[in-house]
Amino acid sequence: MLRSLIPPTLARLGIAIAAPVIACAALVCDSSAADLQAASAAPLFSPPAEEIAQIRHHHIKRLVERLTVEPGELERSCKYESEIATAPPINRIALTFDDGPVPGGTEHILNVLKKYGISATFFMIGQKAAQHPELVAKVRAAGHLVIANHSWSHPNFHDISTAAQTEEFLRDDAIVTLSNPVKLFRYPYGNSTCETNTLVHLHGYQIVGWHIDSCDWAFEKNGKVDAKEAISCGVLPQYRDDYVGHVVSAARARRGGIILMHEIHPRTLSALESVIQQLIASGFVFGSIVDPEFRTSLR
Ligand SMILES: [Zn+2]
Repeated sequence: MLRSLIPPTLARLGIAIAAPVIACAALVCDSSAADLQAASAAPLFSPPAEEIAQIRHHHIKRLVERLTVEPGELERSCKYESEIATAPPINRIALTFDDGPVPGGTEHILNVLKKYGISATFFMIGQKAAQHPELVAKVRAAGHLVIANHSWSHPNFHDISTAAQTEEFLRDDAIVTLSNPVKLFRYPYGNSTCETNTLVHLHGYQIVGWHIDSCDWAFEKNGKVDAKEAISCGVLPQYRDDYVGHVVSAARARRGGIILMHEIHPRTLSALESVIQQLIASGFVFGSIVDPEFRTSLR
C-alpha cells in the first residue's frame, strides 16, 4: 500500500519535485549561500528552539501521514484542505509571514519590505499580538492592510477538540483581525478540519494555504535540510544547503505563487532581502493575496 501511494503523494506534496528543474544562474546560487552564511554571523534575535522543534515535528508527522493514510480517508477528514489546488497567477508573488509578531523580526521584515515597496500578509498568533501590540501597530502603520488570523496559541488543530478549535479561532479574531476589512485564516501547520472550515466561512473568512513552502524552519538550524525535510517542503537535492536558491527555484517551477515564511527564524529571515532581489531578477512581480489575481488561490 505504501509503495503504491508514494508517487502521487510526492507529486501532491510539492510541484517543485515533479516539475522540470530549472537550473539557477551561478550568481543566484553563489550569492544566496554567501548571504545566508553572512547572516548566520549576526542573528537578528535568538531563535525560539521549542517553536522550531514543534514545526519540524508537525511537518514530518504530516509527511508520514500523507504517505501512509489512504487518500480517501484524508479527504473525508478535510485534513489537508488548506493546500491550494489551483495554479498561481503567472509570475506574481505574494509574501506571507507566519507566527509573529516577534521583536527584532517584525521590524526587520518591515524595513526590507519598505525598501522594495512590497506589501505582505502577516498571519499572527493572537497570544504574541497581545504581548506586542506596538508591533501590530507598526505593521498596520506601514500600510500592510492584511493582518490575518493564525489562531490564538498555534496548536495543531488535528490534535484538539472542536470546542478548543473554535476558541483558538475566535480569540485570535478578536485581537488580530476584528477591524480588518479582509478576513483571512491560515491553519497552524496548514492542518485543517471540517469543523473549523465551516466555522471560519460562517465568520466571513477565507482560508489561505501556500504554493511555495520556503522551508525556513528546516534551513534555520544550520543552513541545510535533511532528506525528510526536503521531501516535506519540496526542496530539490541541489538546494538542500541553499535556502535562497530553493525559494527562487520553487517560485520558477510554479511560475509564482503565495510563499510561506515565518517571523521566528532569524537566520533565514536575514536572507529575505536576497530572496526578494533574486525573485525580482527572475522577472517576478510582487502583489498581495487580496489582489483579484489571487482570488482563486483562497478558499
Ligand atoms: Zn504557524
